[in-house]
Amino acid sequence: MGISKYKKIKKTQKIWKDWEICFLKENYKVKTINQLCLKLGRTRNSVIKKASRIGIKKIRWDNVEINYLKNNFEKYTNLELSQQLGRSVDSIGHELMKLKLLKSKKALSYLWRKNGKRNIKEGKESHRWKGGTRKDSYGYVWIYSPEHINASSKYVREHRLVVENKIGRYLFREEVVHHINEIKDDNGIDNLMLFENDREHIKFHTKIRQFGMTNPILRQIENRWKKLKKPIKPNV
Ligand SMILES: [Zn+2]
Repeated sequence: MGISKYKKIKKTQKIWKDWEICFLKENYKVKTINQLCLKLGRTRNSVIKKASRIGIKKIRWDNVEINYLKNNFEKYTNLELSQQLGRSVDSIGHELMKLKLLKSKKALSYLWRKNGKRNIKEGKESHRWKGGTRKDSYGYVWIYSPEHINASSKYVREHRLVVENKIGRYLFREEVVHHINEIKDDNGIDNLMLFENDREHIKFHTKIRQFGMTNPILRQIENRWKKLKKPIKPNV
């Protein structure tokens, strides 16, 4: 398994000189990959591979990368994309969310089939299968969704899925979903509220604890979906 990846080095491959590696280290974060390619006389692929091999990461995405992602995100898994672009899987997921790109159902089933192991049956035949839901020790409901980009052992918390459905995009990891009536398995959209991060979420709890359900709090709950960015429809 994986041997093909390590196939003999091509004769045409140029050995990296010390100055080139230094140059790469110093400029990878500040220059675009195209600029680096020109300066080093190397292909895009070669520059990206070398950088990931010596452990340097690029922070900003350039247009070529973004376009690549836009054109190929439905064809490859995030893992494959991460190898192609020399970025972490997390970074791929994050960028996809930022660009509001959701993999369509069609693409997901294709990716499933391609990955072989990831078969829908796997869940259904598992002895733990309870119609695809589970409850954890905190009382949260988890839904079997192996294709979800933020699945943890193939499950995603239901309240996050419900909010994602409402707003039409994946949630960022730092975003927090709050249960308005504090009942953790009451996952109707009317009972859910989204916070940008846990700091905002805790602030909200503190205000309620100190002052009770004041009018501003009630207004905040009522208007909670209003200031969200325009929802987009996943292209199913
Ligand atoms: Zn809360």
